[in-house]
Amino acid sequence: MPTYTYRCNTCKELTEVNQSIHDIPLSHCLKCNGETNRIITSDFSIQFKGSGFYCTDSK
Ligand SMILES: [Zn+2]
Repeated sequence: MPTYTYRCNTCKELTEVNQSIHDIPLSHCLKCNGETNRIITSDFSIQFKGSGFYCTDSK
């Protein structure tokens, strides 16, 4: 299942979600409900530093 990373336009929060291509994309920030942009990360992992990053692991 691919992992998608979204960045909030408002608070710059990064949210990583595991979802299938059939799932509805995360369009709003879980924190502030602002608009999010999907970041393409393909298959390599990126190390995010800072306190604003957390994982949403839906298995
Ligand atoms: Zn936000």
